[in-house]
Amino acid sequence: MAKQIATSIKYCEQCERKTVHMREARRINWLMHLVLTLVTLGLWVIVFAVVLILHPLTTPLGRKTWICQNCGHESNGFPRI
Ligand SMILES: [Zn+2]
Repeated sequence: MAKQIATSIKYCEQCERKTVHMREARRINWLMHLVLTLVTLGLWVIVFAVVLILHPLTTPLGRKTWICQNCGHESNGFPRI
């Protein structure tokens, strides 16, 4: 699973304005698994099945938390009403 950094402009309660927020996101590399399945004549499907099962288990619980790049404040991404 490849680690990727997602960025978004969100409202920060600490800064009281819109700032750049980041969060870590893990994504399954579908193309890599498809190529490996073809190269290994289908044997990779077993490994891919294990990856699909483990993916939700290895993904951090706080993955939906956005972190302000200005002050480091953690936000759930929902604007304050
Ligand atoms: Zn902030």
